[in-house]
Amino acid sequence: AQERYASIRKLPAQTKCGTVITMEMNAGLMADLPNLSSSGAEGVGLFRTELQFLARNKVPRRGDLAQLYAKVMDAADGKRVVFRTLDIGSDKVLPYMKPTEEPNPALGWRAIRVGLDKPGVMRMQLQALIRAAAGRPLHVMFPFIAQLDEFVEARDLLFRELDRERHLGHVLPADVKVGAMLETPSMAFSPKAFFEMADFISIGGNDLKQFFFAADRENERVRRRYDTLNVSFLSLIRTIVERCAESGTPLSFCGEDAGRPIEALCFAALGLRTLSMRAASIGPVKHLLRNSDLSEIRAVIEEVSERGEQSVRPAIMECLGKQA
Ligand code: PEP
Ligand code: MG
Repeated sequence: AQERYASIRKLPAQTKCGTVITMEMNAGLMADLPNLSSSGAEGVGLFRTELQFLARNKVPRRGDLAQLYAKVMDAADGKRVVFRTLDIGSDKVLPYMKPTEEPNPALGWRAIRVGLDKPGVMRMQLQALIRAAAGRPLHVMFPFIAQLDEFVEARDLLFRELDRERHLGHVLPADVKVGAMLETPSMAFSPKAFFEMADFISIGGNDLKQFFFAADRENERVRRRYDTLNVSFLSLIRTIVERCAESGTPLSFCGEDAGRPIEALCFAALGLRTLSMRAASIGPVKHLLRNSDLSEIRAVIEEVSERGEQSVRPAIMECLGKQA
């Protein structure tokens, strides 16, 4: 399937109306990195760091992590890699963490909540990232931020580690960008300070959708009732796009839906300019973007919302069918 899109691999994801969308890929292993060149991805918009912590029964050593993160940056060869700090919780229990019984693990003590309450592991991970970057730009992204103070605290923690590393004589990153994942609806309505403080924001659509519709992303039965192209969800996306635009904050989308061509097209029509997806999805998404006119899609989305329909999908499919 990758070969089918080989002819557009080096071409930009430029729509018929001239808008260029940046195509990044998601990764979580060193072994994913060769996909950067084979897919034509322009960077790693989401590097999930959980695997290295789940794959063994001890906390990984800082030196080993630093080495791995450095290799990932080497392999990216100057393209940006956004490292997301540990996103783990009571559903994905680390062998060396005391399991906590929680009735609703997805709503429980996870991700940044653990990182702030028990900062030891996250601090070690931040140190490893700082040392790996040494002289190069570093992009750190905090997961599951649900209110402003969590981002403020996580950021402070990173700045403290940078200070500490400097005192210890380590070469600091050339530049540090601190971002947040927007994956709870609360953040779309957060104080402006959040958008101003974040160097970049990435929509974690998998979780955002789960919490928006109150539908467990792991539960097929309820998950499938709710279309990503539901006008309410698109309206939330539009709000996020507008709030980021107001403060000039770069925004991307890194949930699975970014890799689905029709969904990706609608996000681009709503103003998303960076999408991060599985490497294999870059070809098909780029192909559709290159053959579409975003103003047409935007018009369809608007008409459907006004007609009072629930999802824009049927109308978008019809519009694309006419073009074909
Ligand atoms: C998301 O929630 O959309 C996301 C990208 O993070 P994860 O799937 O790892 O929760
Ligand atoms: Mg998530």
